[in-house]
Amino acid sequence: MCAAAAPGSLPVMSPSTVVMASSWVRPVNRGRSSPCGRKSGMPMHRQSCPRRMSSAACTYDAIVRCSGRCHRQGAGQNGPVSRFNDEVAAQFSEYADLLHITGGDAFRARNYEKAARSVAGYSGDMALLDAAGLRQIPGVGTSIANKIGEYQRTGTIRAIEELRAQVPPGVLQLTRIPALGPKRALQLYQELGISSIGELADAIKAGRLQDLKGFGAKSEEKLLRGIELLQRGSGRVLLNVATNAATAMVAAVSAIPGCLRCTWAGSLRRMRETIGDIDILAAATDSAPLMAAFAGLPEAAEVIAAGPAKTSIRTAAGLQVDLRVVQPDCWGAALQYFTGSKEHNVAVREIAVRKKLRLSEYGLFDTESGELIVSRTEEEVYRRLGMDWIPPTLREDAGEVRAALRGELPDLVTEEQIRGDLHTHTSLTDGVASLEDMVAAAASRGYSYYAVTDHAPNLFMQRMTTEKMLAQREEVRDLSARLASTATANGQPLELLHGTELNIGPDGTVDWPPEFLAGFDLCVASVHSHFDQPRQEMTRRFITACENPYVHVIGHPTARKIGRRPPVDVDFAELFRACARTGTALEVNAHPDRLDLPADHIRAANDAGVKFAIDSDAHSTAHLANLRYGVGQAQRGWLTPGDVINTWPLPELREFFRKDR
Ligand SMILES: [Zn+2]
Ligand SMILES: [Zn+2]
Repeated sequence: MCAAAAPGSLPVMSPSTVVMASSWVRPVNRGRSSPCGRKSGMPMHRQSCPRRMSSAACTYDAIVRCSGRCHRQGAGQNGPVSRFNDEVAAQFSEYADLLHITGGDAFRARNYEKAARSVAGYSGDMALLDAAGLRQIPGVGTSIANKIGEYQRTGTIRAIEELRAQVPPGVLQLTRIPALGPKRALQLYQELGISSIGELADAIKAGRLQDLKGFGAKSEEKLLRGIELLQRGSGRVLLNVATNAATAMVAAVSAIPGCLRCTWAGSLRRMRETIGDIDILAAATDSAPLMAAFAGLPEAAEVIAAGPAKTSIRTAAGLQVDLRVVQPDCWGAALQYFTGSKEHNVAVREIAVRKKLRLSEYGLFDTESGELIVSRTEEEVYRRLGMDWIPPTLREDAGEVRAALRGELPDLVTEEQIRGDLHTHTSLTDGVASLEDMVAAAASRGYSYYAVTDHAPNLFMQRMTTEKMLAQREEVRDLSARLASTATANGQPLELLHGTELNIGPDGTVDWPPEFLAGFDLCVASVHSHFDQPRQEMTRRFITACENPYVHVIGHPTARKIGRRPPVDVDFAELFRACARTGTALEVNAHPDRLDLPADHIRAANDAGVKFAIDSDAHSTAHLANLRYGVGQAQRGWLTPGDVINTWPLPELREFFRKDR
């Protein structure tokens, strides 16, 4: 899915954002939501940081201060990241890929990969920075800052254009296939003339790769799996990409006079892992001005349908967005109807039929008399059917209708209940922000505690050492002491935890011996290599990790990357039993290209008595706000705050980390 993205980079760089960004103009109402937007009650949506500065007056430091102030006011970090940043990040990722493909300087390519991550993770709007300001972004030196300036002035970067001219577009497309790097893509092109994904699939099936150096039967199988994964995901975008696009469009529609309410519905409101198309719902007595404004949005590359009830556009990236405008009186029934899922709605309509009622997007009606009973709010509709209001994240016909009829819906965990993040990185390893910046951003989110968990040494490319880790521990302790002496927004100082993200080796052992691990406040342990182990070995591997008394959380348990890497093959029932038995939590990793665990596994693990940690796995300050996607995923797995260890007060959390030692 992430065409231009470097490994481990942000999903905001997926092609959809890239193309959307290229038609970017400053969206209407970029700052605070309009009155209409506020009425919409969008789930877990905070207002974005209002820009207060003109570009001339704005320096890097000023923006940092500006965002800091906004965050303390409870806004800021959850707003969409600047599209200019995304656009530049995509350019740099592509440049790095092109350098690899053309056999350019590998060191230079890595610098641009790093700059891409850094720029994508930068929390301010780079379009507002001058050259000196740009150079303060980690990984951005003079040459890279100049390219950003060139891009801002001209809309292109000459060095990238020159390389693009040397590489057929299909070859770049090939690098999107999981398990195929730029070098091998070039080899396929040079030796077999393969320049598209379709041609590659045909060539594998015709056995043409068999004599090619470096391509065995196993890699053919992997490539076919990768192509399948890519094609299954095509046409769908990651949750954050859809959320950012929908946020901008809802704000634009909300700003039109006559718009009384506007929000998104559909799979996005249900917070599915990937989104096929976006459904926007608005209430107005006259739909015409809303429809006209929507069809005229800069994002609308194509208007597919335009009518008084519904207008559909397609963005340049191929994402379809439907706007439906309904009469204010039937808002509740319409929102219920267009939120879905289809299966949920079928189940709800069956309940209505049993009560001699008929439910449609216009309201709940008496079947015999045809009289309208309720339609104004979702709550009324569900209540009249004898049910509690069902949170959108549960509406998948997975037992929620029955639970709502019995008054037994779970009291779902919310973002506000999260007291701290237990899995985050800094620039000591592959993060792009310093310890101080990450901690300041965490404090502005109102957390009570915050864990720094940089990578352990066995992930060799991170170049971690025992000495570096101990030095960081000192820094964390110092910073913690300084924080204790300063009052924060909620009056309680932020407590810092020093942790690490261990690597679960093929045999289940981790990076350091027990006596060193004992010095950490907590350890997350994750699979970062040997993804292809057979089920039995993989299961043994995880269980050994769980049995380690110093492993507290299993990070991103399936190790999948949505659309890019399949989940590992593990006996989940056994893993869940081991977690419950040893008191090891499973992570719900909130990064939108992971969302790991998947919701059905969360439910099964919960049934087995497992506890969970919802973590951002942030590699930049902007990533901390991804937590909301993890909360959505946890809700889809029916989790309550009691199931989630990082909603607990710190003393209880520390008790959990003792693991019966
Ligand atoms: Zn990891
Ligand atoms: Zn991590």
